[in-house]
Amino acid sequence: MAFARPEIIRPPSEWRSYYLPLTSGCSNNTCTFCNYYGTRLQVRPLAEVKEEIDALHQFLRLGIVRSDMPPIVYAVARGWDGRRVFLQDANALVYPQRPLVEALAYLNGRFPDLERVGTYATAGDILRRTPSELKELKALKVGIFYLGLESGDDDTLAAVGKGYTSQQMIEAARLTKEAGILLSVMVILGLAGKRNSIKHALATANVLSAMDPDFVGALTLTLIPGTPLYEQAQRGEFEPLDPFQTLAELKIIIEHSRFTRCFFSSMHASNYFSVRGWLPAERDKMLKALDYVLSSRNPALLRPEYARGL
Ligand code: SF4
Repeated sequence: MAFARPEIIRPPSEWRSYYLPLTSGCSNNTCTFCNYYGTRLQVRPLAEVKEEIDALHQFLRLGIVRSDMPPIVYAVARGWDGRRVFLQDANALVYPQRPLVEALAYLNGRFPDLERVGTYATAGDILRRTPSELKELKALKVGIFYLGLESGDDDTLAAVGKGYTSQQMIEAARLTKEAGILLSVMVILGLAGKRNSIKHALATANVLSAMDPDFVGALTLTLIPGTPLYEQAQRGEFEPLDPFQTLAELKIIIEHSRFTRCFFSSMHASNYFSVRGWLPAERDKMLKALDYVLSSRNPALLRPEYARGL
């Protein structure tokens, strides 16, 4: 079957990157809240990856537009900063090590000024590699992994079918940092519903502290029609939080996490209110902003529902 190019789903900080697909779908497709639930992983042939790198190079150096390349290649190339590449799709790090190394070496060969390659990764993608394999990727400019912790609470992780425990997440973080690769961790406010909200928030703060990442991005749960969690909510088996309750979780996480130096952000479009700053240095300022919204309970201070994004 021909490789189906995935839609562009990427972290906010990769907005100027070139999006290079290595895979489509997610190999860990069991998370009940996620729009990748039930997707089938496709691994792109290495030869095709190299073809796209060549086409990109020909376009940027010589202005050649090839008819065998999809228009998206050129649309993305026109906005590219030439410095960063983001590997698609949901966990491109599932790409086996040898062809991944070959693809990265080829990319570096064509674009020697490249500064950083980033990718989403599951804990399993990291844990299945040896420390020297991770260092090999780092030497080829893989500079950041985006890892979805979602929750530090093992009951919540099991309930949503995440497939990894908090201990595995912590170990994956350790290996990433040991290899000198930056770590950006995503957590989801509201993922445990009303029943386990506080437990989820406190455990998330604890596990984040143990992971001690460089970046944390907080997202807010959006129930996506067609996913099992959406169906559970429809049946009344999962009670979603209201916007202020999601902010109360955010406050607990910021208050209780202990980092060496971490940029913490809730700027993602799914959130009802955005705070960001360096932790621990800017903790008080961030908590103050949240306290203000939480005590006012003024809906006008929140991002309206229609303006929220995934
Ligand atoms: S949350 Fe991540 S690991 Fe789980 S299905 Fe979605 S993309 Fe895959």
